[in-house]
Amino acid sequence: MLHQAAKVSILSTLLLCSSMSLTAAGAAAQPEKPKLILQITVDQLRGDLPGRFKKNMGEGGFRYLMEKGIWYANAHYAHSNTETVVGHTTLATGAIPAVHGMVSNVWFDRDTGKLTYNIEDDRYHILSAGADVDKSTEVDSSQALASTDGRSPANIISSTFSDELTLHTNGGAKIFAVSVKDRGAVTLAGHTGKAFWFSKATKDFITSSYYYDKYPKWVAEWNKEKNFERYANTSWELLKDKSTYLLAANDDAPWEMDIAGFGRTFPHEYGAAKGKNFGNFLTFSPAGDELTLDFALTLLDKENLGQDNITDFLAISFSTTDYVGHLFGPSSLEAEDNILRLDRTLAKLFAAVDKKVGLENTLIVLSADHGGPEAPGYYKAFGIESGYVSPDKWDKEPAIARLKKQFGIGQKLIRDFYPPYLYLDRKLIKEKGLDQGEVEKAVAKELMAIKGVALAVSSTAMAKNKLPDTQLNRSALRNFCAKRSGDILVLFQPHHFINHFNGEVVAANHGGPWRYDSFVPIVFAGAKIEQETIYREVNPVNIATTLAAIIGTKPPSGSHGAPLQEVMDDM
Ligand SMILES: [Zn+2]
Repeated sequence: MLHQAAKVSILSTLLLCSSMSLTAAGAAAQPEKPKLILQITVDQLRGDLPGRFKKNMGEGGFRYLMEKGIWYANAHYAHSNTETVVGHTTLATGAIPAVHGMVSNVWFDRDTGKLTYNIEDDRYHILSAGADVDKSTEVDSSQALASTDGRSPANIISSTFSDELTLHTNGGAKIFAVSVKDRGAVTLAGHTGKAFWFSKATKDFITSSYYYDKYPKWVAEWNKEKNFERYANTSWELLKDKSTYLLAANDDAPWEMDIAGFGRTFPHEYGAAKGKNFGNFLTFSPAGDELTLDFALTLLDKENLGQDNITDFLAISFSTTDYVGHLFGPSSLEAEDNILRLDRTLAKLFAAVDKKVGLENTLIVLSADHGGPEAPGYYKAFGIESGYVSPDKWDKEPAIARLKKQFGIGQKLIRDFYPPYLYLDRKLIKEKGLDQGEVEKAVAKELMAIKGVALAVSSTAMAKNKLPDTQLNRSALRNFCAKRSGDILVLFQPHHFINHFNGEVVAANHGGPWRYDSFVPIVFAGAKIEQETIYREVNPVNIATTLAAIIGTKPPSGSHGAPLQEVMDDM
């Protein structure tokens, strides 16, 4: 009997050991952490737009995110200047602009005395000849203001999640970011990753000497293929039968931009590949996102992302939705068709990632850098007051002219306005022996009386924390970085904005604190995520902190906010 009992005991020990080793082997085969984090940003994707156009969507794109992901249906930025570089950097760093320092697409640098395009850096030039911004055709008004072709993330003051992933893995993680817009890629790649963006001049994906001494072989080869040529002498046509669109009647609204050669109605012709504006036309249409996808999928394959147990990071920012929103408005037929095309682009992306890495091994997070308003004409068609403002005329406004007289100023006092900041002539104020803060305060008070202005706040008052605690002032303070913010922050009333840029007139323009500009989707999908729709208010700053908590890195240096609990519960 004793002998038998001993035998049983040995057997159970053996069983225990073997089951333990089975568990260990299983854990090695199925790691806890995702092999790939895929962070998607859709430029100007207002939170309501995917649902608005869902009826005509196919399978595997937005529907995959809606039906399998955690969809935060009430996500809002809390800073006042809802512009591209500001939102992208907040997504990357989990920080507010007051902390990450990217307060606007363009600012006047008082140290260098130069106007600065957010990510410009004259130490790191573009690697390709002739790929710089062509100022004669560039429609991106902020990019056109850069004085050098150099680009780097040096102006981003705090660390990004991608930086933390690099540090955490001792450089083992592969970090990449791709976008049509340079600032859509450089921000998400952070200080330690590699960024590629689209040159409208050469139609290649390019980078700067900050990232590489020369192009990786696969990039040179992709560019040599001239993938853009497949759009030459073709046109952007509707994906579906026109009668099935919600906005079928909105193809020819008078407020849409009528771009020479591209037009404002379907079909939009791309023209010859050698055409002066061919690169622009690609980015004004779904072709821009399709080329971005093509390049990103080649990157995924050639750089072997997600193939081992060290989590890799790929960020893709799709820019077309923003161009279409500005040129035609978010309630144009172009906008609806573009979202349907983007849905197909996302479906292709998810299918390719599934094949290469497995969606169960990939954590997808999708959001946007900002939302956007409707075109004023569209508001007015439904009886809502809306309009444009012209800060370039403010120096001559009777109230400002009176004030200048009072100060004994005959010259121009308002030097410039780069949204959302107005720049006064500081040198002149000093020469006249005036107090900078007092002049700001007086000008701000007069600006408040101008039609379309909701709030004008003196930066000196912000620096001294002398503002009443209101919601708008809080959003202005979250945007305030003493070294980079202008002298007076100006916010326009809802449905009012600037539409003149370098002689061009756009249909609609974002950049305010209002709900249509702050509203973006946040969706987590893939990995172990289970479907849920969440209506409590969340902020995109929570994305970077959530990713950090999932991987176990420390939070990015300027980040705040807690990880999103619903996501953490599934991990
Ligand atoms: Zn944007």
